[in-house]
Amino acid sequence: MAAHVLVLGGNFAGLTAALTLKRELGDSAQVTVVSKSDRFEFNPSFIWIPFGKRTVRDVAFPVARTFAAHGVNFVHAEATLIDPAARQVETTKGSHRYDYLVIATGYQNDFGVVPGLGPGGNAYSITSLPGAVEAARGWASFINDPGPVVVAATQGAGCFGAAYEFVFNLTYQLRRHRIAVPVSYVSPEPFAGHFGVGGMPGGKQMLGMFFRRQRIDPIFGASITEVAPGEMVLGDGRRLPFRYAMVVPPFVGADVVRNSGLGNAKGFVDVLDTYQTLEYPDIYAVGVATAVDAPWVAANAVGVPKTGFPAETMARVATANIASQVRGQAPVREENFADIPAVCIMDAGNNGVMMFGDKMLPPRKRAVLIPGPQSHAAKIAFEKYFLWKSRHGYVGLP
Ligand SMILES: Cc1cc2nc3c(=O)[nH]c(=O)nc-3n(C[C@H](O)[C@H](O)[C@H](O)COP(=O)(O)OP(=O)(O)OC[C@H]3O[C@@H](n4cnc5c(N)ncnc54)[C@H](O)[C@@H]3O)c2cc1C
Repeated sequence: MAAHVLVLGGNFAGLTAALTLKRELGDSAQVTVVSKSDRFEFNPSFIWIPFGKRTVRDVAFPVARTFAAHGVNFVHAEATLIDPAARQVETTKGSHRYDYLVIATGYQNDFGVVPGLGPGGNAYSITSLPGAVEAARGWASFINDPGPVVVAATQGAGCFGAAYEFVFNLTYQLRRHRIAVPVSYVSPEPFAGHFGVGGMPGGKQMLGMFFRRQRIDPIFGASITEVAPGEMVLGDGRRLPFRYAMVVPPFVGADVVRNSGLGNAKGFVDVLDTYQTLEYPDIYAVGVATAVDAPWVAANAVGVPKTGFPAETMARVATANIASQVRGQAPVREENFADIPAVCIMDAGNNGVMMFGDKMLPPRKRAVLIPGPQSHAAKIAFEKYFLWKSRHGYVGLP
């Protein structure tokens, strides 16, 4: 009889897990994806939406057809409760039994960390698709009536790449529009180029140079107390006036994880290196949904970015292990998050930096940063390739 594999979430980690499993197991598994969103969203391109360089249609596609083409059932619903004892998940469209469960429910923005954030608040956040669209509306009015700009990541944030990319794209756009206004970058990172991965050799100097050249005033090791209308208040009492502000908040896990008692205080799931949960060998978690400890102490909390490449890697490790279990073998594939190679491109409008490291987190043996306009071209090429690959379900490709 075919094993029932249920995957919660259909973005980077969920799409990879579901399609890889089906390809690997064929008729010996019935794979079902339950996802709150009926689209795949390519979050790395959200940074371009505010500046009119991308629309929602450019960065998202409906997933139902992709799953159907590969024999995976798709249910557009939100999972609300996981019952590990009954091996059942309640959703907004009925309940689903499973033999193996993959939690790939990703992140939600934690706007509660600083008063004044969130939809209808005093700053934009491009960490969701609606947030990026809202930031585009704000930008359209800003360029007709410009003033000071603040781009920030709050204490506890981990997605620093998005904040850097946004501020450098913004200053590139300001130059294009011949607008000269003060721009500040506020972050809890202890130094420029930390990126929530402990920095890379030469990164501090390189990012420092980017800030100087673009005339951005960087404020590191900072916390934010409040984002009031037109003014950001920092933990040390400094007040930064702004006409336009974009803030990256911390992330927390999905409600279903918290409500089912499967996550830590932030709603992220602790996993073994097999990506099985600590308690249940038939429940896996992959992607942003997993808990990763930051291996450093900073004055203000600095999170770790769980980026796309590790999300896919975790999904591949988990699916290899589920396939083994379905075949009656032990789940032996292991890869600790910290040991997954670091592969990232930071876009800066018409320039950027490519980053490669042998490990996500230090200590590393090898890491290199390659600056230059080819990074911008590489990010565009990667976006096109990744969306093509995902839309067609070619998740076996790198
Ligand atoms: C602005 C921005 C820029 C980024 N730039 C880069 C970059 O340049 N390079 C890079 O590698 N990474 C980047 N990232 C990180 C990258 O987006 C993440 O690594 C990736 O989204 C992780 O995928 P995931 O599938 O784990 O989670 P998510 O993408 O969060 O997907 C989770 C899925 O689960 C669904 N879901 C949530 N709750 C439920 C529920 N209860 N029931 C059912 N479904 C549910 C959601 O609808 C969604 O489809 C960026 C992220 C942001 C926000």
